[in-house]
Amino acid sequence: MDAASHSLSINVSSTQMIAQCPVCGEFSGRIHSRYERTISDLPFVNFTLIWLVQVCKFFCSNPNCCRRIFSERLPKVAAPWARKTIRLMEQLQAIGLALGGVAGARLGNRLGYASCGSTLLNHLRKLPLPQFEIPQILGVDDFAFRKGHNYGTILVDLERHQPIAILPDRKADTLAEWLQAHPGVKILSRDRSKTYRSAMNRGAPDAIQVADRFHLVQNLSETLETTLRAYAAQFKATRQAHQLSLVANESNEADAVVAISKPTATKRWEQKVQQTHQQRIEQQQRIKTLRAQGWPHAAIAQDVGVSERTVQRFLSLPDFPDTPPRRKSFGRGILDPYKPQLLEWWNAGIRRPQALMALLQQQGFTGTVRTLQRYVSGLREAQGLPPVRIKLANPLPKVIDPQSPPFTPRQAAYLLVLKPEHREPEETELLQLLAQQHPDLAAVIDLANGFLDLLRQRQVDALDDWLMRAMSSTLKPFQSFATGLLDDYAAVKASLTTDISNGPVEGLNTRLKILKRQMYGRAGLELLAKRFIMASSIGAKTQTS
Ligand SMILES: [Zn+2]
Repeated sequence: MDAASHSLSINVSSTQMIAQCPVCGEFSGRIHSRYERTISDLPFVNFTLIWLVQVCKFFCSNPNCCRRIFSERLPKVAAPWARKTIRLMEQLQAIGLALGGVAGARLGNRLGYASCGSTLLNHLRKLPLPQFEIPQILGVDDFAFRKGHNYGTILVDLERHQPIAILPDRKADTLAEWLQAHPGVKILSRDRSKTYRSAMNRGAPDAIQVADRFHLVQNLSETLETTLRAYAAQFKATRQAHQLSLVANESNEADAVVAISKPTATKRWEQKVQQTHQQRIEQQQRIKTLRAQGWPHAAIAQDVGVSERTVQRFLSLPDFPDTPPRRKSFGRGILDPYKPQLLEWWNAGIRRPQALMALLQQQGFTGTVRTLQRYVSGLREAQGLPPVRIKLANPLPKVIDPQSPPFTPRQAAYLLVLKPEHREPEETELLQLLAQQHPDLAAVIDLANGFLDLLRQRQVDALDDWLMRAMSSTLKPFQSFATGLLDDYAAVKASLTTDISNGPVEGLNTRLKILKRQMYGRAGLELLAKRFIMASSIGAKTQTS
C-alpha cells in the first residue's frame, strides 16, 4: 500500500495448469517461464488498485504450429496485452460515451481512474457499434456541422426514439444509398426539402412519406414573417401605444408619461455598417462575375468564402446600392436586459448614476458607467431635465423606453404560431390590438390560424379548402407557401392523418449539437456518431429497465 501515490498493489498468481494456444487452439501444460503483468482495476475505496499478476508462458504442444511459445490468457479479467481490467474499460467507456474525452477524463480522475482525454477516446474507438433492426418508421433531419457550411443527416427510429445513423452530408445520393442498403422502412418522416424527397423516392419508393408537422409550422412561420415585414412600422406604433396605455393604466394619468427618444447611431457603428456593406457589394460582384464565366455554385461559394445559399441569394438579388440600407435599431446593447428594471428605479426617483450602477451590478450588469450614463442622459432629455442634477419640487412624468423590448415581424410570426395558451396575456392583447387596427392583418392571422387548426386538429378534409383560400388570397408569400404544399401534397396530407412526428428527432438534434461542441473537432464524425448513437441507446435501456 503506497500512501503517497494512493495506490494499492496486490501480488497474485494464475493457477491455470494448462492453457490453450491462441494460434492452433491445442492445449498445453508445458510451462516455459513466468512473468508479471500489471493490470489496473476499479479503484478500491480511494486507492488505485493494481494487480501484479504472475502468468505463465507455455510451449505449444503442436509440432506443426507456427507459434512455439505463447502466454496464457485471462479472458475473464483483461484482454491480451491490456493494462486495464475489462470492468475498468467498461466504466471508462461509459464515462467517455456520456461526457467525451476532456470532460470524461476530468471526472475519471476525480473518481480515481487515471486516464487522459485522448486515451478515453481511444477506448471509445474500440467499442463496436450496436446492431439495430431496420426501423418501421424512420425520421430524417439535417444538422449543421458548421452552420451555413456543412451539414449532415441524422436518422432516428421514431418508434424507439433511437438514433441509428449519422450520414456525413445531406445529399440525396447519400440518403438514397443508405435506404437501399437498409430496405424495409415503411414510413419516412422528413422536412419539406426536395433533396430528401427525391432521395426517398429513389431509395425507398414503396415507403409512405410524411411531411413533419414541426417543419410545416416552421414553414408557416417563415411565410408569416415575410408577409408581416410590410407591417413593421405598424407593429412599432401599436407596441408603443400599447406600452403607453399599460403605464397610463397603472398611474391613471395618461399625460404623465413620456417616451425616451430613439438612440442614434455612433460614428463607429456607422463605419462598421458601411464596411460590411462594402464587403457585400464586392462579394456580389465577384459571385456574378464567376457565374458569368460558368463557375458552378459550389465552386463560387468556396472561392468567395460564403455558403451556397448566399451565392444563390446574391445571384437572385439585383445589384446592391452603394449606400447600406438604413437600420432602425442598432443591435442589442449590454444594457437592454436591465432596462425595464432600470426604468422602474428611475421612475421611483433613483437618478444618481453611481446609485443606479451599484444596483445594476447587483443584478449582474457588467457594462461600464459610460454605457449607463449615455442611457441616463437620454432619460433626462425625455423628461426635460437639465443635464445637471437639481432638486425638483414637482413630480416628473414617468418615462418609458419604446425601444425595449422591440417587436419585430419575426417575433410576431413566432407569437402567431404559438399555441394561444402559451402566449403571455400582454402578447395576446397586443395581437388583438394589431388585428383591430389593421383589418388586412386580421386576414393574415386568420389564414395562419386556419393552417394551424388543420395541423392541430388533423382536419384532413379541410386541407383542400385551405389551399384554395391561400392560393386565391392576395398575399404573395401565402400563395407560394400553398403552391409548395400542393407540390408535396401526399406527404402533407399524410402528416394530417398520422401521429408520426419528428419531435424526437428535434430533441436528439439538440443533444447532438451539444455533443458536437464538446468533441467533434478532435474526434471526427465516426466517433461523434458512435457516442451519439450509443449514449442514446444506453439512455433508452435505463429508461425501460
Ligand atoms: Zn499452437
